[in-house]
Amino acid sequence: MPVMNKEMKNAAIQVLENEILVGGESVFKFEQDFAKYIGTDYAVSTNSGSSALLLTFNAINTKNGDNVVAPSATFIATVNGACLLGANPLFCEIGHDYVISSEKLEVMLNNNEVKFVIPVHLYGHPCDMSSIKDTAKKKKVIIIEDAAQAHGAQHMNMKVGSFGEAAIFSFYPTKNMTVGGDGGMITTNNKKIYESALKMRDVGRKTKHTHDKIGYTLRLNSVNASIGKIQLKYLDTWNEKRRKIASRYQKKLVGVGDLILPPDDETHDKSVYHMYVIRTKKRNLLGTWLLKNGVSTGVHYPLPVHKQPAYSKYRNFVENNLTFTDEWSRTVLSIPIHPNLDPHDQEFIINIVTRFYDERLYEQKEIQDEEKSWSARLT
Ligand SMILES: *Cc1c(COP(=O)(O)O)cnc(C)c1O
Repeated sequence: MPVMNKEMKNAAIQVLENEILVGGESVFKFEQDFAKYIGTDYAVSTNSGSSALLLTFNAINTKNGDNVVAPSATFIATVNGACLLGANPLFCEIGHDYVISSEKLEVMLNNNEVKFVIPVHLYGHPCDMSSIKDTAKKKKVIIIEDAAQAHGAQHMNMKVGSFGEAAIFSFYPTKNMTVGGDGGMITTNNKKIYESALKMRDVGRKTKHTHDKIGYTLRLNSVNASIGKIQLKYLDTWNEKRRKIASRYQKKLVGVGDLILPPDDETHDKSVYHMYVIRTKKRNLLGTWLLKNGVSTGVHYPLPVHKQPAYSKYRNFVENNLTFTDEWSRTVLSIPIHPNLDPHDQEFIINIVTRFYDERLYEQKEIQDEEKSWSARLT
C-alpha cells in the first residue's frame, strides 16, 4: 500500500474545493518540482507512464518500420507506445544486473539500422548510461529512458531520467511514488518534445478552440497532481529506507542456498530498489513456502515481452539470443521491500527463507503439491 498521509489527503481536498480539476495550478507546480528534482528543463505530466511513452515516441516522429531496441526483460508497456506507432521492436539481452547489456546493445546497433533505444532502469537499478550514451551517439540513435521504476535513482551522481533525449516515469500506486492513482511524467531538455507532448496530451490544442493536430487526451488531473507534489517531497526519505532494507537483505541472505542476490555495487550507481529481486532455481517452491508463511512475493516478470502473445507477430525480428532473459524469467522472485517494512517482519522473512534451505523444505511433499497452485498465478 502506498503512503497516503494527512498532508496528501488535505492537498487533494484543497484541489477538490478550490481548483479546476483539469489543468489546475497543481499540475504545473508538480511538473516544475519534478523537472527540478530530476534535473531537466521540462517535465510534462500524463495520466500514466504508458501515455508518457506514447506521447514521447509520437514527439520524436516514430514511423512505420522504425527499429527500436529495448530489453525483453521488462514490463510490456516499455515497448507498447513505440510499437503502437508502428515501430519494430528488437529485443536486447540483459546483463547480470538485469538491465540492458551495453555490450550486446553495441553489437545490435552495429548490425541493424536502429532509430531508438529504450534503456529500462529495472527494479530501480540504473543502467550504465555512460556507455549507452557513447554507443548511441556514435550510431546517432535516440535514447528514451524508461524510468518508471526508478524515481530518484542515480548514475554518476546524476538522476536517471536526465540522460536520454527524454525519459518517462510512472506513478502507478506500486511504484516508489504515486499520485494516488494512475499517472506519469515525461522529463526532457528538448523543447520540441516538450511542446509536442503538451499539445498532444491536450487534444492537439493550439488555442482554446483551435486544434492544429489530431491529438490525444492523456492529461494528469489536478487532484492527482497535488498528491504527487507532496509525495515527491518524501521520495528521497522513502528511497533511503528502501536502500537500508536492501542492504539488510544483502547481508543476511548472502550465501544462503542457491540464492543469487541483486547487484550492490554502489560505486557509480545508486539504486532505489523498487523491487528486491532474488534468483533461485527453486523459485516456485520458495514462493510457495513463503506464501504458506503469510509472505507474499511477486514475479517480475514470468513472461518476457518477446514471449507475450501480443508480440508474436514480431518474432521474426528477434535475431539475437535471449537465453539469459529466459533464465531470468524462470528464476526471479521479488521479496517484500517497502519504506515501512518493519525490521521484525524483515527478520521473519529472512528466517523463513533461510529455513527453506537449511531444513531442505523444498523436498517436502506438501510444498511440492502446493507449488502447482502457486505457479498458476504466474499466467
Ligand atoms: C509501470 C511501468 C510502465 C508503465 O507505466 P503505467 O503508469 O503503468 O502505464 C512502463 N515501464 C515500466 C518498466 C513499468 O514498470
